[in-house]
Amino acid sequence: MHELSLAEHILQLIEEAAHQQQFTQVEKVQLEIGQLACVERESLHFFFDIVKKDTLAHEAKLEILEIAGQGICNQCHQSISVNSYVTACPHCGSYAVAIIAGEEMRIYALEVK
Ligand SMILES: [Zn+2]
Repeated sequence: MHELSLAEHILQLIEEAAHQQQFTQVEKVQLEIGQLACVERESLHFFFDIVKKDTLAHEAKLEILEIAGQGICNQCHQSISVNSYVTACPHCGSYAVAIIAGEEMRIYALEVK
């Protein structure tokens, strides 16, 4: 039920933003989700459609932008692309890779009325 709490969290952020920026209706929500964030897009859409009912986001369309995973090898210090937590460096074969992008989830933009 990870995606349900995410959907609730997104809605909470939207409501806070609405309060601060004084808008009353949201038309589109753009989310950035990292490849490594383990979020199932389909179930996030599903739960967002449920939690947005009777809120200022009830007409909002959810758009998900994917952020590629990126890491730096601790061994040879090259920057590499990472698509799972168990990724070997393609340059030296080391598994000591520090993740620098791809774990985030944030609201990138809101289209409001
Ligand atoms: Zn390396």
